[in-house]
Order: sequence, then C-alpha cells, then structure tokens
Amino acid sequence: QVSLNNVVKTYDKQTTVLHNINVTIEAGEFFVLVGPSGCGKSTMLRMIAGLEDITAGEMYIDEQVVNDLPPVKRELSMVFQNYALYPHLTVAQNISFGLHAKKMSKATIQQRVEDVAKTLQLTAYLTRKPRELSGGQRQRVALARAIVSDAKICLMDEPLSNLDAKLRTHMRAEIKQLQRKLGITMIYVTHDQIEAMTMGDRIMILHEGEIQQIGKPIDIYNYPANPFVATFIGSPP
Ligand code: ATP
Ligand code: MG
Repeated sequence: QVSLNNVVKTYDKQTTVLHNINVTIEAGEFFVLVGPSGCGKSTMLRMIAGLEDITAGEMYIDEQVVNDLPPVKRELSMVFQNYALYPHLTVAQNISFGLHAKKMSKATIQQRVEDVAKTLQLTAYLTRKPRELSGGQRQRVALARAIVSDAKICLMDEPLSNLDAKLRTHMRAEIKQLQRKLGITMIYVTHDQIEAMTMGDRIMILHEGEIQQIGKPIDIYNYPANPFVATFIGSPP
C-alpha cells in the first residue's frame, strides 16, 4: 500500500507543480496516473520512488513514513520511458544489474535471470546487446529488470510511448497479465486516456497539479466529476 497525505511539490521554492495530493494505492492494484503533458505525473512517480523530495506532506509505504527513505531502501522497481538500458552490457547483464548489490550468489542470480527471461520470452536474446533488439524486445528487457528484483511495487513512466500502435496494444495486455500473475502493486503513468481506461483497476486524473477524480474507469466514464474530466475521457454529453 502506498499513501500520499497532503503531498505538495514545489520546484525552486516558487513553482508548485503538485497541490495537496491525497491518495491511497492498495496492494496488488493496477493504478494509473493519467493527465495531459506537464500536469505533474512524472514528478509524482519520482517522489514515490524517492528520486525527488517532497515539499510538504507525508508519504507512506505499508504504514511506514518514507519521506526521507532513500530510493534503494524502498523496495520498489521503476521502468522509465526510454528504458534506460546499459548499451555496453548484454541483455542478461542488464537484467541482473541491480541484483549484484543484494549479496546473492552467482548461481542464484543466474537462475533468477533465466526464470524472468523465460516469463518474458527473452531466453534467445540473453547474450545480445540492446542495440541488437527491436523496440518491443528492449521494452521487455526493461520489464524483466524491474520484476527480477521481486519488488512488491512497480512504477512505470510511459513505458510504451516509443512503440508503434500495434505493439503498444500487445504490450498493454502483456504488462497487465504480468502484474496479475506476480500480484504486484503497479503505479503506471500515461498521458493516453485509452491506455488508462483499458489497463487501470482505478485511475487518477491529474490536471495542472490537482487531482480531478479517482475511480474505476467505468465510473469515471459514466460520472465524470467535472467538464475537464468529461472532455479528457471522452464521456458522452
Ligand atoms: P509529460 O506527460 O510531458 O511527461 P508530466 O505530467 O510527467 O508531463 P512533470 O514532468 O511531472 O509532468 O512536470 C510537471 C511540471 O513540473 C512541468 O511544468 C515541468 O516543467 C515542471 N518540472 C519538472 N521537473 C522540474 C525540475 N526539475 N525543475 C523545475 N521544474 C520542473
Ligand atoms: Mg512525464
């Protein structure tokens, strides 16, 4: 469970990009953060990851205040928009990169990498470098690296925006399946309302740093809280 309690983010002591954010994301939930460009989605995700500090308010992971907890101690994994793979490392090395800090034996690490590669259909590519892969395969490597750590919470920031429409549809289903299978908590950022509506158990609509509505896609579609939400989601008038 991840909770934000009156969280505020101000950059450079003057520009407030998130106002009074109150939300609780339940364990095992697929939670989507959606809104137009610049509304503060990445900022919120980076705060949850611990990559950005919080100006005011409290953040909790499983009831523990984590405001000052460094990213490595938060036991969560993150997939960035550009995948952030290491070009000089093989697929296997990219997947296992974060495990070496965890004092695991070489054999255990290798076994984990093989298991995750199997789940994501990457077994045939383990010795390749990222540049020798397609966009969809790179995307899978980034997913593999996120789940290999066994983190209970996974954060994704527009992970599909570099892919073509067909692959994007396919990967949506794949990510959703993976999340269900592993039972992890997913906090997923997108600016695409269709992606939000099809993937989210619940979605949160953000506009200019303020929460517009939180709820199940069907409820938001049928009962938009305000004209902004109605237009953004494309609810019938
Ligand atoms: P996009 O969909 O384009 O990725 P976003 O919703 O992820 O947008 P953020 O990246 O969270 O938006 O940015 C929210 C606001 O905060 C923007 O106005 C942005 O210019 C500003 N901002 C982001 N990072 C910084 C920073 N390091 N310093 C100052 N302002 C920042
Ligand atoms: Mg962003």
